[in-house]
Order: sequence, then C-alpha cells, then structure tokens
Amino acid sequence: MLLVRLLLLCAIVYILFLVLKSLVLGRKGKSPDATQLGEAMVLDPQCQTYVPKSEAVSREGKYFCSEECAQRYLAARA
Ligand SMILES: [Zn+2]
Repeated sequence: MLLVRLLLLCAIVYILFLVLKSLVLGRKGKSPDATQLGEAMVLDPQCQTYVPKSEAVSREGKYFCSEECAQRYLAARA
C-alpha cells in the first residue's frame, strides 16, 4: 500500500501547488489599496474615518483626520 500513499501524497502536493499558484495570480490581478499606496491608514476615533498616516493629525498617540476632530475628541474625553 506504499505506492498508493505515495500517489496520494503526490496528488496533495499537486493540489497545494495549484492553490498557491492561483493565490499568487489572484494577488497580481487585484491591487490592494494598502500595499499600492505603500502607506498605513489610521482610524480617526472621533468621526470613524480612515485617513493616511501622513495626512493625519497626531494627538496623544492617536490620529485624527483634522485638527477639529482632535480637539473635539480630547475635549469630550477631558
Ligand atoms: Zn475626523
């Protein structure tokens, strides 16, 4: 029964290869926003909006979409 197991193993390896291949091709086809921009998105806890980290306003370790949101958030928390 060793030959059967060997064939079964080959089949599993082949299926895994096909799955991996389709995953790689699938990634090439699509363009994920995060990796395409090459920039992290941060969540504004005040208005629940995602903004690029470079455009975000940083206050006390949190990121906001604008100075207004930062002030509102910190005022509400105080
Ligand atoms: Zn905001």
